[in-house]
Amino acid sequence: MSRYSKDWRTIALTIKEQAGWRCAKCDRQCLRPGDDITGLTKSERTKITLTVHHHNRMPEDNRPENLIALCTSCHLGYHTRQQSNVPPGQLSFEF
Ligand SMILES: [Zn+2]
Ligand SMILES: [Zn+2]
Repeated sequence: MSRYSKDWRTIALTIKEQAGWRCAKCDRQCLRPGDDITGLTKSERTKITLTVHHHNRMPEDNRPENLIALCTSCHLGYHTRQQSNVPPGQLSFEF
């Protein structure tokens, strides 16, 4: 069972669009839907994939003030540096 709501993809997309597809932490310009990714390796693509992080680490709490757009490396940093109730393996659900 996923703790993410079924309209999570729509919510996440809205947050990313509002962020202008930039990471809120390092300001990296990330991939937009439809961007040309030919020539990028999988790891390069992953690095510039924007994800949405839950401030309070409660995936069911989708209030806008709880959500922040982060690139993959900043996002992973948040989860490894701080206590998290979301196991790293579940991170992919946030994409
Ligand atoms: Zn970043
Ligand atoms: Zn997160």
